[in-house]
Amino acid sequence: MDQTERTTRKIRIGSLHIGGDSPIVVQSMCATRTLDIDATVAQTHQLAQAGAGVVRVALDSEKEVGALKEIRRQTEGITLSVDLQENYRIADKVAPYVDKIRYNPGHLHHIEKAKPIPQKVRWLAEIAREHDLAIRIGVNCGSVAPAFVEKYPGDQLAAIVESAVYHCDLMKEFGFERFVVSLKDSEPGKVIEVNRRFSRRCPDVPIHLGVTEAGLPPDGIIKTRVAFEKLLAQGIGDTIRVSLTLPNERKHEEVHVGRQIVDDVATGRFISVPEFDTGLNIISCPSCSRVENERFVELAQQVKQITTYAARYRITIAVMGCRVNGPGETDDADLGLWCGPTTVTLKKHERKIGNFKYDEVLSRLKLELDKLIAERGELPASAANQH
Ligand code: SF4
Repeated sequence: MDQTERTTRKIRIGSLHIGGDSPIVVQSMCATRTLDIDATVAQTHQLAQAGAGVVRVALDSEKEVGALKEIRRQTEGITLSVDLQENYRIADKVAPYVDKIRYNPGHLHHIEKAKPIPQKVRWLAEIAREHDLAIRIGVNCGSVAPAFVEKYPGDQLAAIVESAVYHCDLMKEFGFERFVVSLKDSEPGKVIEVNRRFSRRCPDVPIHLGVTEAGLPPDGIIKTRVAFEKLLAQGIGDTIRVSLTLPNERKHEEVHVGRQIVDDVATGRFISVPEFDTGLNIISCPSCSRVENERFVELAQQVKQITTYAARYRITIAVMGCRVNGPGETDDADLGLWCGPTTVTLKKHERKIGNFKYDEVLSRLKLELDKLIAERGELPASAANQH
């Protein structure tokens, strides 16, 4: 498969460029608590040494700005991005210490509800301009802006794409050009489709690719590859992030995987995964500074281990690391778990089953999985494929 040339414009982030004929930049994100300065500095260096062109840290509140300032001081020379998560109001406080800010259009309505969205975006663009920053408009399937969900009922992909296009139009209206867009989902097929649609609508806008909550290796790597190979080969994608559920000491593997995919596509080495999306699908988040119990990664690994007997059933289990995004991000799964400081909440679709201690939740999960299989009377995927 020949790689098609990219059509995006080149933008600057700190001292590096993304888009146009610039090399594809592999990014990653710290999973440490931002307030833990030593751990975050160490992980920033770990990711940069592995080849991450941009390292992202997440901040929720002004209380963390002092830590960010010190992290910046100790990571001089590394291109830093900050994830504003649900609090866009801290943009002006963090701006002096980073090269790029990421905001989620689906989270702008949470605060200052009466203020119109364009006014908030204009303010972010002004902050970025004043501090010489780039911006990522990061649209996520799990948190699409309500206005677009209402406007495109039952068509989540249209809601994602139109939300991104709307924010690009706002940036252009405000005369701000140094922005990239990401449109992420946990399903590779949706990632391929939304990015293709967006690229057709805005061929000049640089794209950051990601399969969110891809989960544990090797499945998470396969899901990511399936999406990235197709898109990169079509000239779609200027920067990538591989989101894997990994313990902190192995977090740099995300970067190695990303670089390998980029190299493989450039040299025409593609893997074929014909049946990757049949059977049991375990999605799990890559973790970030919001994780309150370090047992999260181990829990995700245990969920995978104890559910291998159900590998052939078309069931999705979601394991999320925090109580902020966990509740929403598990709604679409057949069974969902999200981690609090001392307990794990177990859900069946949107319904909460209960809160369980970390060492109790697995047996309850297995019980619910058995019930689900019995309720459905479902054929294993391999049998269903024969019909
Ligand atoms: S679900 Fe929570 S812990 Fe996991 S990546 Fe998202 S915000 Fe971070």
